[in-house]
Amino acid sequence: MSFDRRQFLLACAALGTTPWLRAGGTRPRVVVIGGGWGGLSAARHLAGLCDVVLVERNARFISLPLANRVLAGVDDGRRLHQDYQAAADAFHYRFLHGTVQGIERERRQVVTSQGPLAYDWLIVAAGIGEDDALLVDGNTEAARHLRRHFASANTPGEEIRQLQEKLAGFNAGEFLINVPPAPYRCPPAPYERAVIVAHAIKSRQLKAHLTLIDPNAPWPGYQRIFHEFFREQVTYLPNTRLRQLDPYARRVSLDFDDLKFDEAILMPPQAAAPLCRAAGLTDPGSAWAAVDPRRFTARDDERVFVIGDSVGAVSPVFGHYPKTGQLAARMGEIVAGVIARQIAGESGEPPLPDSTCFAYLHLAPPRFTRIETRYRLRGDGVLLQQIQQQQENNPQGENDAWLDAWHGSLFGQGRPG
Ligand SMILES: Cc1cc2nc3c(=O)[nH]c(=O)nc-3n(C[C@H](O)[C@H](O)[C@H](O)COP(=O)(O)OP(=O)(O)OC[C@H]3O[C@@H](n4cnc5c(N)ncnc54)[C@H](O)[C@@H]3O)c2cc1C
Repeated sequence: MSFDRRQFLLACAALGTTPWLRAGGTRPRVVVIGGGWGGLSAARHLAGLCDVVLVERNARFISLPLANRVLAGVDDGRRLHQDYQAAADAFHYRFLHGTVQGIERERRQVVTSQGPLAYDWLIVAAGIGEDDALLVDGNTEAARHLRRHFASANTPGEEIRQLQEKLAGFNAGEFLINVPPAPYRCPPAPYERAVIVAHAIKSRQLKAHLTLIDPNAPWPGYQRIFHEFFREQVTYLPNTRLRQLDPYARRVSLDFDDLKFDEAILMPPQAAAPLCRAAGLTDPGSAWAAVDPRRFTARDDERVFVIGDSVGAVSPVFGHYPKTGQLAARMGEIVAGVIARQIAGESGEPPLPDSTCFAYLHLAPPRFTRIETRYRLRGDGVLLQQIQQQQENNPQGENDAWLDAWHGSLFGQGRPG
């Protein structure tokens, strides 16, 4: 379904009556849920063309990309914090600090903690959901205990700082990290965390040991690093499932073994943000949002887009796009283009996204891995993925330059290449 400008104005005129509910004058309104990489990118690319309202529950932006460096003590974390209102002012959209409680698709409105908000288009960029109860047989009290003491720190917020304190206070004993089953956000991030913990154990000569439980196939680059540098500090268990967890007794059952631990970072399986499921945007039996793989429209609703890490499989060949910030931001650009073309009454195929991801392989001497993915279409329209993984022993701030360029683009100075 495509809309011309007249239809738009009629649709806008038909919207509701409360101040927030009313659409923005003669310009169509786009509501963006989530001020992460995907939502910020969509908002900035649509500002000027539409009345854009970005709704975000956190008061300030905290970057996850490069946040593990804060844990490693090589970054004070200040550059990871950004101001939402400054971004909205720079690009001329509206920032609403609030929580979206529900999406009423049939009424084309979202219910927020500040009141209802009508939309002409809705962009859901709400990141991931993590259900700790999945690790503890549905026991919600144990799940709360888990989040309080062994949080994954995989979502934007204060957990990274808490993790930093945990690592600083860890002096001896068994440390446990589990990798979530794929797909999950930022594929190298759990292994990078393991390297940071291993480095702390080795460099501080702690009477301690790390076990890394991984239900996925082994990651060769990290397997080599654990073998080469951390043979005494790390046991890496690929293809191993965490079957049972008692967070009070600090005990896990694996496929063939039981293990006691003193400290842990426990990562539950990931899924689309809970809002997606509640709004019927996930397929039955799937944890992820069902979208058109090129335009990111919901399968049954041309007015709703889902972008970023919530997005489900896009290709029968490689499955999911990697869940990275750059890819989420590219999706934001793409949906902005789709909406712009609809407003102009033009047709055209959207571009394909790309991704770059940096992670430490080793801290001292520093070795990085840089993972780049590019996409192309096969003749029959199926998406193909090309992954290039490079080891950089002397990155010379390339990762900083990448983050600065993206922050500039999302918050108001410059633009990444
Ligand atoms: C340790 C770590 C390292 C990483 N390193 C890299 C890297 O080097 N390169 C890279 O490209 N990517 C990296 N990533 C991945 C990257 O952070 C994610 O892919 C990216 O944040 C996804 O963007 P998003 O917009 O989908 O979700 P998010 O960035 O999570 O944003 C979603 C936003 O929605 C908000 N929200 C959710 N629900 C609601 C609601 N109901 N109401 C209001 N607001 C809501 C959340 O508060 C959040 O701010 C890393 C991730 C981790 C954990």
